[in-house]
Amino acid sequence: PGPALAEARGKLREVFGFDDFRGVQPQVIERVLDGRSTLAVMPTGAGKSLTYQLPATMLKGTCVVVSPLIALMHDQLRAARANGIAAATLTSADADWRETMDAFRAGQLDLLYVAPERASQPAFRDLLSSAPIALFAIDEAHCVSEWGHDFRPDYRQLRPLMDAFAGVPRLALTATADAHTRADILTQLDIPESGLIVAGFDRSNIRYAIRHRDNPVRQIADLMRTEPGPGIVYAPTRAKVEQLADKLAAATGRPVRPYHAGLDPAVRAGNQAAFVESEDMVIVATIAFGMGIDKPDVRFVAHAGLPKSIEAYYQETGRAGRDGDAAQAVMLWGADDFARARQRIGEVPEDRRTSERTRLDALAGLVETAGCRRAVLLRHFGEDPPERCGNCDNCLEAPGVLDVTELAQKLLSA
Ligand code: ADP
Ligand code: MG
Repeated sequence: PGPALAEARGKLREVFGFDDFRGVQPQVIERVLDGRSTLAVMPTGAGKSLTYQLPATMLKGTCVVVSPLIALMHDQLRAARANGIAAATLTSADADWRETMDAFRAGQLDLLYVAPERASQPAFRDLLSSAPIALFAIDEAHCVSEWGHDFRPDYRQLRPLMDAFAGVPRLALTATADAHTRADILTQLDIPESGLIVAGFDRSNIRYAIRHRDNPVRQIADLMRTEPGPGIVYAPTRAKVEQLADKLAAATGRPVRPYHAGLDPAVRAGNQAAFVESEDMVIVATIAFGMGIDKPDVRFVAHAGLPKSIEAYYQETGRAGRDGDAAQAVMLWGADDFARARQRIGEVPEDRRTSERTRLDALAGLVETAGCRRAVLLRHFGEDPPERCGNCDNCLEAPGVLDVTELAQKLLSA
């Protein structure tokens, strides 16, 4: 490792208080410090933010961070400032634009967070011309691709903006991009193929199970009885969230709270805060829940209905077991979920239908496979996994596979 990386390690301790890099962080950071554009594909929780925040504290000039959600930006801002990093946001929710712009022009900011819709504004381009820029970091970079699961047209304005600052390296970050989407991100953002860094996607401590939904309350209550720790249950609608929360609380006697966009903001924030603090709470939520929540000890994630895509499934189940301890992901699905998804595809603009259908087919492949779930997931993300993982329903229930627990019991009692 070069001297830059050694210095980065020092900053890791001093500024962030971490002992060591994780996974591909050092590879990404080394490239960034070297001024080379990079696309880093790293799972949720892998620590993507650090790969631009740390260089931002070392490089001359400001790192401009593009991030799609204002709420997440403000979380990041708080965390960065708590570490003593000079950071600011320019969003509709900020009243201190003047001060931020002055500090930026004076070269006093390490990080400037902006939403993608700023990118197309001439005034923003002018602002960038008036200050030294060290790096463009593009978070949730899959939003630039129509192949991604969350295309946002504003992301297409980033390219012309960044092209106006040709010498500034780009760091694109995403958790969820299949091979097709990755290639598209590289093209769209003009990052060389050699700049692609992919972290391992396997979450070996998560046990995956995908079951037919016959009685979701009973099925999830059973799961709650085997997993006394904190859990997240995803439900498709606000009404189902409320219903399930009530019924699961009644069936299990455990603390259960709802979370969805229709709740009073104070109640919603209170439920989230209580969940983050709790060691046994279950939160029943729409998919609005979880982004930016950093709770390492979630013991299970249950889906009461089909998720939107394999990417969404991976991201949502990935909120379980971030501490590395055993965790479960259980999805319940019904034929009506697929019928509804197909109907929805019929209603989207024609040019999006093919990619939506491809996405649904991939999900159907995961649901219907008699083989290893993990292998299907990892192959989807371009990895070449072993045929069987031994830690999903299909591997554990496959005929002829020894039940290790039973075997151990027999040996012990022999
Ligand atoms: P991502 O954006 O990839 O989902 P984050 O950047 O939000 O992940 O980081 C997830 C968590 O991991 C944060 O709490 C962060 O502080 C922590 N983290 C990041 N890098 C390290 C590290 N090298 N050592 C310990 N914790 C880390
Ligand atoms: Mg992130």
